[in-house]
Amino acid sequence: MARSKICPECGSKSCARIIYGLPVLSRKLLEQLRKDRIILGGPVEEDYSPQWKCHDCGAEIYERRTVRPSLPREIKKERRER
Ligand SMILES: [Zn+2]
Repeated sequence: MARSKICPECGSKSCARIIYGLPVLSRKLLEQLRKDRIILGGPVEEDYSPQWKCHDCGAEIYERRTVRPSLPREIKKERRER
């Protein structure tokens, strides 16, 4: 069962996991894509790539422990002000 995430911005539970790389499109994965539980983020995951996206407010949630912990917050702020 897919782990659900609560958006830190708006408290919504409808957040999608963003996965990177080229996943095998299994039936289970296709089902999760169809339900917007998972978003494909592209073939390459960057240090600052978000791990989750909120469907309600569009916030991108970063969870990775990176060597540049301040960067994700700055990017998120810019996108929210857009
Ligand atoms: Zn949200």
